Amino acid sequence: MKEDNKKFRRPDICRPPSEQNSYFLPLTAGCSNSTCTFCSYYGNRLRMREHEDVKTEIDALALFVEQGIVLANVDQLVYIIAQHWDRRRIFLQDGDALVYPYPKLIEILEHLNKKFPDIERIGIYATPRDILRRSLEELKELKRLKLNIFYIGIESGDDKVLERIDKGANHNEMVEAGKKAKEAGIILSLTVLLGLGGVEGSHSHVLETARILSEIDPEYVGALTVTLIPGTPLYEQAKRGEFKELTPFEFLAELKGIIENSNFTNCFFSSMHASNYLSVRGTLPTDKERMLSEIQRVLDEGDSSRLRPEFLRGL
Ligand code: SF4
Repeated sequence: MKEDNKKFRRPDICRPPSEQNSYFLPLTAGCSNSTCTFCSYYGNRLRMREHEDVKTEIDALALFVEQGIVLANVDQLVYIIAQHWDRRRIFLQDGDALVYPYPKLIEILEHLNKKFPDIERIGIYATPRDILRRSLEELKELKRLKLNIFYIGIESGDDKVLERIDKGANHNEMVEAGKKAKEAGIILSLTVLLGLGGVEGSHSHVLETARILSEIDPEYVGALTVTLIPGTPLYEQAKRGEFKELTPFEFLAELKGIIENSNFTNCFFSSMHASNYLSVRGTLPTDKERMLSEIQRVLDEGDSSRLRPEFLRGL
């Protein structure tokens, strides 16, 4: 990893909560689908990192882990991240690193497996298009090399919403991608965005989101609450009154509706993300009634002090 490598700047760490103790290894910066109108990656340009540069970082990391050697010509962030690393998980950055050229991705995964044979899991953000571009055999090869969890932002199952936010994939494509990854044995962690249909589209957003989640039947679902980010098209639409945000209790009603209307085999469902007004979590279907009644109780009381205050909400 050359310090004078001007072509690639290490991206900020944007990762799923469950990857907090992972080592963060950037293959890309940005996202190949930087069109989603609500996202902080909107308008970003995707940058690919040289795979030799990635392999040099892996070598430097191995040297540090095995012998405590710190190299002066290596980005010192490598060592800062390594000090907090659980030595079990690696997360490949950035917004959809699965877009990285397949043969080079395989080479990097093989190198990781060689240098860290005890690694348990490698995770990555993936878009449905990234997955559909790969054959089933290719996905199985990724899984064999321990790239065994995909984080996918589904956002909504409603095609009208998906089109309006410029997600780059529709309901059926996302289901196809999800099922293909599952068939390859890859764990799926999906996120959906409460309130993304606005006030007018709320009903259909809830029902279609519950439907897409049931169809894909993932191992994990995280519900997040839409947050308006200055500079994004959705923010501007809200300012012009073209997108009407839900009230905090309406967000809760959507959360309840999605849990109520979805059917899973065995899914850990959570709304623990900092963007949410209320945190619930549990395994569905086992904990369905308990989770629904927790939300209903807060809805019935209508007491705002039970909700996460705005100043504590985050992305
Ligand atoms: S695909 Fe994901 S990271 Fe990329 S712009 Fe859309 S929401 Fe953001």
